[in-house]
Amino acid sequence: MKYHPKFRRFIVCLLTTISLVNCARNPRVVVIGAGAAGLATASRLYQGGITNVTILEASQRVGGRIRTTPFGAGIVELGAQWCHGEKGNVVYELASAYSDMLKASIIGDDAALIQSNGVRIDDELVEKLSTLAEQISESEDRMSYAGSLGDFFTETYWQRLQTDAGFSDVSHELAEQFLVYFHNRGRGDSAYDSWYDVAANETDSYQETEGNQALAWNSRTGYSTILDIVSGNYPATANSPNPTKVPLSELIVFGKYVSNIQWNGANIKNVLITTEDGSQYQADHVVVTVSLGVLKENSATMFTPALPTVNQQAIEGLNFGTVNKIFTLYNAPLPEGMANSVFLLWHKPDLDALRRSKYAWAEAVAAFFRVDHQPNVLGAWLNGIEGRQAELLPDEVVQEGLAHLLEIFLPKLNFSDVQSIIRSKWSSDRLFRGSYSSRSTLTETLGTGAQYLGSYLANKDGTPVVMFAGEATNRLHFSTVHGAIESGFREAERVFDIYNGSN
Ligand SMILES: Cc1cc2nc3c(=O)[nH]c(=O)nc-3n(C[C@H](O)[C@H](O)[C@H](O)COP(=O)(O)OP(=O)(O)OC[C@H]3O[C@@H](n4cnc5c(N)ncnc54)[C@H](O)[C@@H]3O)c2cc1C
Repeated sequence: MKYHPKFRRFIVCLLTTISLVNCARNPRVVVIGAGAAGLATASRLYQGGITNVTILEASQRVGGRIRTTPFGAGIVELGAQWCHGEKGNVVYELASAYSDMLKASIIGDDAALIQSNGVRIDDELVEKLSTLAEQISESEDRMSYAGSLGDFFTETYWQRLQTDAGFSDVSHELAEQFLVYFHNRGRGDSAYDSWYDVAANETDSYQETEGNQALAWNSRTGYSTILDIVSGNYPATANSPNPTKVPLSELIVFGKYVSNIQWNGANIKNVLITTEDGSQYQADHVVVTVSLGVLKENSATMFTPALPTVNQQAIEGLNFGTVNKIFTLYNAPLPEGMANSVFLLWHKPDLDALRRSKYAWAEAVAAFFRVDHQPNVLGAWLNGIEGRQAELLPDEVVQEGLAHLLEIFLPKLNFSDVQSIIRSKWSSDRLFRGSYSSRSTLTETLGTGAQYLGSYLANKDGTPVVMFAGEATNRLHFSTVHGAIESGFREAERVFDIYNGSN
């Protein structure tokens, strides 16, 4: 059948108009990474009516640095474990629509500081030194100090101990041990190798959300429950909302390691994404949620044309450090005499002996801790450079090293009947290259920060085509799951803004 040319032109014109309208209402968005930020971005878009979304994920699982793993009689968290705060915390707010989802973790009580001769420091003394340490950390003088956090802290600490009569009962040796312990806590909380790499007067410090800072998940699916909640896949109850279920299994393509994003001058749609296996995807917008560690390693080749200086400086200037966990499963519950967390305070000769031994890497272990709902499991924190070294050792060697530490610090307790261990290796994993982000002296020197890492790339019309989400792009809540989710929602809103009126 032949149509009159005028009629054909009319049909073509009509189809083009329909497809443009469709495109305007339902643009094609590719999200890179199926961690908390990626799933938050895709879910918010989908639930707001932008359903033409694909998530490219390099691994074979969702969650990224949320890694809830079956172990023993329950689960352990190799990545994110606690919800830090309540008011203004998006994780808490999403979870509290369901009853009893989060509860105060046992980790919040009964922390012991134990010396390498097995002696527990008196709790009152610990309280006194902890209050001093907090005062120094929050002191206004910090903001006018030109050096590092390490310099500021140690100078002020020794000055206060010498001049304040209230500390006359603190021996020099204990004061030194406490200083090392407090530094180690900072290395864990902020994933830096040393506080001499952090500026005392950093411009944007992490801002706690109000409320309990260690809330544990009550469910058997642990922290990964938040991924179901955020994507509307957690079963609704009478009191909880009933959001649109996002069909994640249809949106996510697993095993797709993105190697290049051509974002300007591509003679196609706005962006062309190439994965390591040679597949290509076109999109109107891309939201990149890979970790700062992955960007540090790959950004030079991942973007065509190269990233603008503002993004490059943020990638270079922000810090991405190492915090790892090792969980040991015993055949019996942990001994009753053990506190909920045990921080390790080394006597100098003992530490020297450790450094000379085959267990030198074990200096990375900052603390042991009990695990919520898992009486037979012992957790250990490993921080910093030695924590990275330990990633390369075989499980048997690591297990032996932990047993050595337990003999030194908790000699009267029995930890002999080990069934198995499981551990994270965040830095040697090329999908992460570290644990979480923080600011450093270089961040300040370069005048950069999370908001610059999160600045989008625009096409010639100024429309955002490549956007960045992920914990490290969150100026105040970096290094957390709630920070990652907030950043995902932020970038979804940016896409909606482009198509103003479609949301
Ligand atoms: C040991 C540890 C303990 C933690 N504890 C807590 C805690 O108690 N509470 C808390 O709030 N937060 C905690 N965090 C931090 C929290 O886990 C992270 O901030 C958050 O999960 C980061 O989410 P994200 O989406 O930004 O990044 P990710 O989770 O890193 O997601 C990025 C995704 O991108 C994928 N990817 C990487 N490269 C590519 C590529 N080239 N192509 C395609 N896909 C790619 C990755 O596989 C990953 O799935 C912890 C983290 C660690 C490591």
